Amino acid sequence: MLVQCIGTGSSGNALALYSNSGKILLLDLGLSVKEIKKAINFRTSDIAGAVVTHEHSDHSKSLKDFENMGVKVFKPYMENNGIKKMQFNDFYVQCFQLPHNGITNYGFYIKVDNQKLLYMTDFEYCPFIFKKQNINHMLIECNYIKEMVGTNLVNLEHKVKGHCSLDTCKGFVEANKTSYLRTVLLLHMGYGSDNDRMIKEIKEVTGDKVFVDCARPNMKIELNECPF
Ligand SMILES: [Zn+2]
Ligand SMILES: [Zn+2]
Repeated sequence: MLVQCIGTGSSGNALALYSNSGKILLLDLGLSVKEIKKAINFRTSDIAGAVVTHEHSDHSKSLKDFENMGVKVFKPYMENNGIKKMQFNDFYVQCFQLPHNGITNYGFYIKVDNQKLLYMTDFEYCPFIFKKQNINHMLIECNYIKEMVGTNLVNLEHKVKGHCSLDTCKGFVEANKTSYLRTVLLLHMGYGSDNDRMIKEIKEVTGDKVFVDCARPNMKIELNECPF
């Protein structure tokens, strides 16, 4: 299984997960349909579906375009149908709500090829614990470092109540890590972030056996099978 970063941050978020059989699940659609199609090499017939976390355009920009193409999109923030789980070909997906400064926002728990992933972005904190799920890969926002932001930022309240700090991210990884954890991919770095420091401090929580990096456009990472 493979994860590809197409875009991350306030200029637009989209990731592609490729299952071992070559099916694609898109995580957020915050770039133009053209950019996303190009990034996946125009393999539109391999798209099993997409999930969208919330209404902000850096996550939902091309939602309508993909729906018009006939792509099945799980967007629980728009639906009042109580559906909390969906199957998209190889991908089993379950959603859970995350606080984003008053905007309805969801994180996703995904099972594919015997691997368990979390995709979480644009959240102040996570009210749930996933220790029992033995998560293998965390795709998680690490937006800012508290003391690098200061107190004078114009949209400080939105940043603090809507985005995940390094401290919060570390706390989540600490609370949810098990010996099954293989990857922590940091997402949506914003004003007041420092990639090297974030990677270093998260690695101090995970230990050496876990791959930790910050997402960059065009980056592809093999998500290896857990050997246990
Ligand atoms: Zn965002
Ligand atoms: Zn947002």
